[in-house]
Amino acid sequence: MPKRIFSGIQPSGILHLGNYLGAIRNWVKLQNEYESVFCVVDLHAVTVPQKPEELKNNTLAVAKTYLAAGVDPEKSAIFVQSHVPEHTELAWILNTITKISELERMTQFKDKSASGPENISAGLFNYPMLMAADILLYDTNIVPVGEDQVQHVEIARTLARRFNNLFGKTFTVPEALVEKEGMRIMGLDDPLKKMSKSASSEYNYIALTDDADTIREKIKCAVTDSGKEIKYSDEKPAIKNLINIYSLLDNVKPEEVEEIYRSKGYAEFKRDLAEVVVSALQPFQEKYADLDDEEVLRILAAGAEYVRPLARKKMEEVRKKLGLL
Ligand code: ATP
Ligand code: MG
Repeated sequence: MPKRIFSGIQPSGILHLGNYLGAIRNWVKLQNEYESVFCVVDLHAVTVPQKPEELKNNTLAVAKTYLAAGVDPEKSAIFVQSHVPEHTELAWILNTITKISELERMTQFKDKSASGPENISAGLFNYPMLMAADILLYDTNIVPVGEDQVQHVEIARTLARRFNNLFGKTFTVPEALVEKEGMRIMGLDDPLKKMSKSASSEYNYIALTDDADTIREKIKCAVTDSGKEIKYSDEKPAIKNLINIYSLLDNVKPEEVEEIYRSKGYAEFKRDLAEVVVSALQPFQEKYADLDDEEVLRILAAGAEYVRPLARKKMEEVRKKLGLL
């Protein structure tokens, strides 16, 4: 049996360079080696308020992004989480074996609930069990994610082991796969926080669908560090992040970027970086524009058809192990 990978992205906004470099780009490579399942995790997106019409559009847009970036529906199953209700059913069961103290440690919850408990849904707190269900339902071996999601994969591992100990071997214990390059692209407006599609300012991220002028404008406005050297160092987190983006999209080493800009200033570096990003995104954007919505919906329906029997079978086993009549 080939090993299975599973991963997903929330339709909580427009996908950005971090989602591409930290996740999708790796999926495109991995789909040639593994049995691959990629999900648009709409039920995760609603853990923070979403406008229904936008959610619908964003869900389709995420699927189109996967396809335009090179996820091949001939090799990988692509589906929408809410089309397979076993995800929520298993999440409920996992709720019952998760400790509140484990959830309180989650960095994502702490970050996203910073505005105060009166604004936060219980769904946001319970997010890790739904993610664990996504992964465990398919006996996933490997979960390719950006660094920020490693903690949630750890919880999935803990819950798989705990369930297996309590009720007998049921779940495969998954492993996170984080590619060092691209694992954490930082916000353009704040290099100490990761780039996020639900960031409050659109100057935080470069969306994969941003047009050339928007990309140039956003990079021009990106915050820089004090001094004027183009140096790849932890003391210069803003420039380090911009060098990373340059290096990953143009396939040059960070040291080579330093070398090219040794006696040049931020303005010139940023101008060139903008052109690197614009031309790296061009083929993606052309493919995206060519995708037909009806065809994408058919691909999503086929993906759900493929995974549904797997999910059903696993849930039957879980119900039986648990003693549900
Ligand atoms: P949100 O702000 O709504 O949480 P997000 O941008 O964090 O959105 P997610 O849908 O939560 O995106 O994550 C999708 C995938 O992209 C995950 O594998 C995650 O680790 C990865 N990812 C998200 N942001 C970054 C980033 N800045 N750098 C690298 N990888 C990232
Ligand atoms: Mg996120």
